[in-house]
Amino acid sequence: MTIEQALKYGQRLLEKCSETAKLDAEVLLLHSINKDKSYLFAWPEASLNEQQSEQFNTLLEQRKLGKPVAHLIGEREFWSLPLKVNPTTLIPRPDTETLVELALNIANKEQGSCLDLGTGTGAIALALASELPFWHITGCDRIADAVALANENKHSLAIGNCRFVLSDWFSAFEDEQFDLIVSNPPYIDPIDPHLSQGDVRFEPLSALISDKQGMADIETIINQSRHYLVDGGKLIIEHGYDQGKLVRDYFEKMAYKESITIKDLAGNDRVTYATWWY
Ligand code: GLN
Repeated sequence: MTIEQALKYGQRLLEKCSETAKLDAEVLLLHSINKDKSYLFAWPEASLNEQQSEQFNTLLEQRKLGKPVAHLIGEREFWSLPLKVNPTTLIPRPDTETLVELALNIANKEQGSCLDLGTGTGAIALALASELPFWHITGCDRIADAVALANENKHSLAIGNCRFVLSDWFSAFEDEQFDLIVSNPPYIDPIDPHLSQGDVRFEPLSALISDKQGMADIETIINQSRHYLVDGGKLIIEHGYDQGKLVRDYFEKMAYKESITIKDLAGNDRVTYATWWY
């Protein structure tokens, strides 16, 4: 089988079960032949050896069963950083780059401190650390495997100004204060039918669902962050497309100032932030 044939074959096989069949086939083929993207188009006539075709077929079969591409290749790019991923955490989403962009606009001073609550792979913390070399970024997670994975990513990207801590929200932080707190917490309603479709079926529920129609963890974070923000510090939270008003209302109830919701690239409400003044 040639590269060109393999791509067509893979795409056709995945068409029924994936909305991104062509891309999936490309990524899985590249992983099987251990090459980068330019190779596919430069060498369409090159042949796969037996081991490569076997691996490609195995990956296609697993993708047909619904397994996320990121789990099959063990990697997902976020903010142009290649991150290792595994089933212990959420797979980083492009939506979350909206949060990173906003945090970078808000972090408009040379030095500062930022805490990423529920860091998972470390995606948000590492993206911010890579862009803000004089800031100290902390990522925390209550799952030890996630902290280990985030540390692995930190080391393979050689990012120094970032640490990862085992902590159930603020449990490890006592009286530390931060200029900025950010989070992509679990915010899906436990009875949301989307939980039985697509990649989320293979991700940990602890990273996805939250009580009170998805609002329970967001409320905990808004409530507790007041003790961990400096005067004038800001809290930025990612949330569901239909939770913008609920999040702003809760910020107001907890006496934060100036809460504002930002849309993601698809035009959905996705991130809300507000300022804490003592
Ligand atoms: N945005 C993710 C999804 O809808 C959910 C992420 C989360 O709950 N934090 O698949």
